[in-house]
Amino acid sequence: MRHIAIVGSGPAGYYTAEAAQKLWGADVEIDIFDMLPVPYGLIRFGVAPDHQSIKGVTRRYEQTALADNVRFIGNVKVGSDVSVAELRDLYDAVVLATGAPRDRPLGLPGDHLGNVHGSAAFVGWYNGHPEFAALDPDLSGKTAVVIGMGNVALDVARILAKSREEFAGSDIVAHALDRLAESRIGRIVILGRRGPHQIMMTPKELGELGHLQRAVAHVDPADLPDEGDDALLEPGLRKSVALLRGFANNAKATRRDVPINVDFDFFASPRGLIGEGRVKAIAVERTRVEAGRAIGTGQFYEIPADLVISCIGYQTSPIAGVPFDERAGRFANDEGRILPGLYCVGWARRGPSGTIGTNRPDGFGVVEMIAADQGAPAEKPGGKGFDALAASRKLDVVTFADWKRIEEAEETRARDDAPREKFVAVDEMIRASGHGD
Ligand code: NAP
Repeated sequence: MRHIAIVGSGPAGYYTAEAAQKLWGADVEIDIFDMLPVPYGLIRFGVAPDHQSIKGVTRRYEQTALADNVRFIGNVKVGSDVSVAELRDLYDAVVLATGAPRDRPLGLPGDHLGNVHGSAAFVGWYNGHPEFAALDPDLSGKTAVVIGMGNVALDVARILAKSREEFAGSDIVAHALDRLAESRIGRIVILGRRGPHQIMMTPKELGELGHLQRAVAHVDPADLPDEGDDALLEPGLRKSVALLRGFANNAKATRRDVPINVDFDFFASPRGLIGEGRVKAIAVERTRVEAGRAIGTGQFYEIPADLVISCIGYQTSPIAGVPFDERAGRFANDEGRILPGLYCVGWARRGPSGTIGTNRPDGFGVVEMIAADQGAPAEKPGGKGFDALAASRKLDVVTFADWKRIEEAEETRARDDAPREKFVAVDEMIRASGHGD
C-alpha cells in the first residue's frame, strides 16, 4: 500500500487525490489535511459568494472524498499540531496544496492605516473565513479605492457595488450582507498602474460589472489605445478591452443619476496612503507604459479614499521546516519537488495564477512525478500511524462525515434566498459537527 498525505483541501488538494486514485486505484491510501474543520479552501473562502455555479465543482471533489481510500482530516494544523517531518516519516509522499492565502504586502508608506485591507482579508471577511470574520471594514465613507486590475479587484468592486437584492442566491455571510446593505460608498475607483491592454481581468467577470442594478462603470476614453491595436491582443484580452471601450461610452451625465459610479483609473501607480489613524486619501503617480512596464512620469495626484482594498496578488504561508522562497512568496521547489518525499502543487508551487481548472493538470503532474521518483512504496505506517499520533496528542480531528453534518446545519439555517449560512467561527463548526455533544 502506498500512503499519501495531502496538506490542504482546496482544488489543488482534491485534484491531486483524484489523480492518485486514478493512477494507483486500490493500492493507495490518501489522507487530506486541513487546518479548518471544513474542506474546499479557495472554493469556500476565495470564490465570490455570487458565483455559485463555480462552487458547484465541490460535487466533483466530494466524489473523490467519499471513496474508501480517501480521508478528510480537518481541524489539524500541519506545522504545529503535526510537523511536516512527522508526516514525511508516516507517509510515502507528502504533497503541500496549501494555496496562497496571504496578501502580498503593498509596502507603501501609510499601508498600516485604518480601513486599508488586503483582498485576502476582505474576501475572507465576506466569505466567512474564521481568521477574517472580525475584520469589521468601515463602509460608511463615500469613496473606496480598489488597487489592482485582476479578477480579484473585480470581485471586490462588484461586491461593494451590489444591492442587497443582487445577493439573492449567493452564500455571502450575514455579517457582510448586513454591513454592505448599510454601505454609503458612492464611488469605487479601480486603480491600475498600467493601461487597458495590460489588465488581468477576464471578459466574463468584467462583463458582470456592466450589469449591476445601481452602479455604472466608467473608463476615460483618453486612456484607451487606438482601437486598431486591439487586433494584436489574444482573444480573451481583446474581449475585455472591448468591454472597457463600452464603459467609455457611459456618458458622464449618468454619474449623477446612479447611486454608485465605478471609475477605472489607468496609468496610476499608488505611492502612499494618507491619513491620521485611518486612511483619507491615496497618493498616486501617473505612469506611462514602455515595453510593458509602468514608468513613473513624476506627475502626482491624490484620490480621496475612505476605504482601500489592495488586490495585488497572494502568497503562500510558510510552514515550519519547509524551505521557502521569500521573493516568490511560495515554497522553494523544482517543478514541485521540495525535498525527498515532499512535494507542492497548485498555487503553493507556482503562485496565484490561472483558473481553478488549471490545478487539475497540476495534480496529475505531481502524482506522475511521485510515481517516477519512487518505485514500490516503502512500508510506512500511513494513516494508522497518524491516528495513533493524533490520539496521543488528543487532536480533535474532524472527518468528512463530520463535515457533512456541518454542511447540513449550514443549509438548515440558510436565509430563504441562500444555499447556506456559513459558520464563521471554528468552535461553531466543531459544535455543528457533533463533537463535544
Ligand atoms: P492578478 O490577476 O495577478 O492581478 C493582480 C493585479 O494587481 C494586476 O493588475 C497587477 O498589475 C496589480 N499589481 C500587482 N502589484 C501591484 C502594485 N505593487 N501596485 C499596483 N498594482 C499592482 O491577481 P488576482 O486578481 O489576485 O487573481 C489571482 C488569480 O485568481 C488570477 O489567476 C485570477 O484570474 C484568479 N481569479 C479568478 C476569478 C474568476 O475567474 N472569477 C476570480 C478571482 C480570481 P500588473 O499587471 O501591472 O503587475
